Amino acid sequence: MRVFCASIATETNTFSPLRTDLTDFKESFYAAPGKHPDTPTLCTGVFPALRKRASDGQITLIEGTATWAEPGGLVNKSTWHHLRDEVLQQLQAALPVDAVILGLHGAMIADACVDCEGDLLEAVRQLAGPDVKVGVSFDPHSHLSEKRVQNADVITVFKEFPHTDFAETGEACVDLTLRAARGEITPKLSVFDVRMIEVLPTSRPPMRGFVDRMKDLERTGAALSVSAIHGFMAGDSPDLGAKIIVITDDAKPAGDQLAKTLGLELFSFRGTTRPDFLTPGAALAKAVSHPKGPVVIADVWDNPGGGVAGDSTILLRRALSLGLSDIAFGTIWDPMAVRLCHAAGEGAHLKLRFGGKTSAVAGDPVDGEVLVLKTQRNATQSFGASIVPLGDCAVIRIESIDVVLNSNRAQTFSPDLFTNLDIDIATKKILAVKSTNHFHGAFEPVAAEILYCAVEGPYPNDPRRNGYTRLERPIWPIVDQPHGSEAA
Ligand SMILES: [Zn+2]
Repeated sequence: MRVFCASIATETNTFSPLRTDLTDFKESFYAAPGKHPDTPTLCTGVFPALRKRASDGQITLIEGTATWAEPGGLVNKSTWHHLRDEVLQQLQAALPVDAVILGLHGAMIADACVDCEGDLLEAVRQLAGPDVKVGVSFDPHSHLSEKRVQNADVITVFKEFPHTDFAETGEACVDLTLRAARGEITPKLSVFDVRMIEVLPTSRPPMRGFVDRMKDLERTGAALSVSAIHGFMAGDSPDLGAKIIVITDDAKPAGDQLAKTLGLELFSFRGTTRPDFLTPGAALAKAVSHPKGPVVIADVWDNPGGGVAGDSTILLRRALSLGLSDIAFGTIWDPMAVRLCHAAGEGAHLKLRFGGKTSAVAGDPVDGEVLVLKTQRNATQSFGASIVPLGDCAVIRIESIDVVLNSNRAQTFSPDLFTNLDIDIATKKILAVKSTNHFHGAFEPVAAEILYCAVEGPYPNDPRRNGYTRLERPIWPIVDQPHGSEAA
């Protein structure tokens, strides 16, 4: 059995002041055919799962390109066409195949292409033919279009947010697609449109129980696969919003019913799934009054992992205006300021302007007399077992606050972002980080308390005010009862 695989992945925040091009893909992650590492990346769980079967002699594997760009703004047209054509030419050269398996993210939007993954799947189907089995894995923060459903036989989605199950999701996609290619199962996709866009962390109720139930349904054989697309509120897509995907073995009516039951249950959670989000003033006051430290304050919306720049100065400006001390901020993205600090050297005092460069609504740049505490080439932090590059970094002290400036946009994943740069977090009252939820696991053991802070900025965090231009379906919270009386 001949199997082709490839991966093109990014998450596009169409409201971001950033733009994404081929350099962003090449700098984040780019593996030419055969060059994918042994371990999976977020969207390439299918690669190691397929290699295992190839080395067992079960399949002949033909690998295409695998690439990922850090979430950012609109992808330009030539970049999208270049990557799409690269993979399609690789598939053309690999034909005939029995199966095509793609590791995608699912929220990529390009200049002149609203549904990149749908177009890719349609082109793959046309090239490969109607009888070839096509499997795909998605991130739940994606847009599920009809074109994707029509052109795929198998769709699997990370169930967890944080996405700790990406390897299992790739494995499930490979297992089901190969079983279908061998004729052992006849997968039928059932989709229910939940008509809701919400933040759905699965480490806390009610989503924790919902994910456990999805897994139980798979374990007991009620369905071959059950997935929930959460949707990505920063993407202006006509398919914005949560959707349930159930895959049955040739039992579409039962699958449709199960998808609807689960979808209406998910809809019933609306408005109850987020942790409490504090204002900047309330978060700082609560942290200062805590008897212990460090208190972690997450700037949840200025998260580079959601496609914004990560150079907001609003929380920092508030802390400076209150005269607070013993705070470490990680990070503010400003390659130019980093360059100046490296030129000045450790121990230097200089007048520096930093942050607030990319957006009119992320706070003004901060101007001040700063002390350069530390300069570091190619700094890193960890995220689980993986190493996340921060680029060249500088730690500066302004008044009594330490700030990490970085050159590679990255959300804050781990306290070693600070400690690798010689910041002693035990002496800090407050650690301010930029991340929505992925930071939580690594910071919990060192935090006296964790506070979530909603700082307004370029991230479109209120669907009622986001001004979507492509949305034609009613979805909550823009519409109160998008299902009519059915789910009232
Ligand atoms: Zn995601």
